[in-house]
Amino acid sequence: MAPQIEAPTWLEGLIRLKKDSLEIPKSKGLSRNPKKSLAVLTCMDSRIDLEYLVDIGLGEAHIIRNAGAILTQDVIRSLSLSQLTMGTTHIIVMGHTTCGLETKEPNRLKELVIGQIGIEMELGTFSNVFDSVRETVKNIVESPYIPIKDHVAGLVADLEQGSVTYVSSSSDFEIL
Ligand SMILES: [Zn+2]
Repeated sequence: MAPQIEAPTWLEGLIRLKKDSLEIPKSKGLSRNPKKSLAVLTCMDSRIDLEYLVDIGLGEAHIIRNAGAILTQDVIRSLSLSQLTMGTTHIIVMGHTTCGLETKEPNRLKELVIGQIGIEMELGTFSNVFDSVRETVKNIVESPYIPIKDHVAGLVADLEQGSVTYVSSSSDFEIL
């Protein structure tokens, strides 16, 4: 049983704290395996209306988000587990316009970070979001940890237009 302790006040109104309620959660009865056998890698940007841009609802896809929609080791781990244990077969990589990680001056962002925390870290910046998405699709196709890669597509969302542009797919690359 969960311990009975008071949550910090800033959480009130932000999250649905457990309370006595007869409301049935939307997730009740849904399979853990995404209904559309789909995993989506996209950026953490708060302006991406993912459920509008990609026709997915609760229980239909794995959503993996990070700064820049970058294929980090942890994203590879998640995509691998998504396929190996939860039956997904299709991957969408979605970058977006005006991404904070798209920069012609990566050193400026690096210095901003070092200036505040005093240590260097890998930021995953890129100079062109279309190239970045294309490269990510290629790297997924080449990853030995991701076994199913004949349905991988790369897209860029235009946040001003509310639309997506197709960039590339696994068929552009030789599947290993
Ligand atoms: Zn972004």
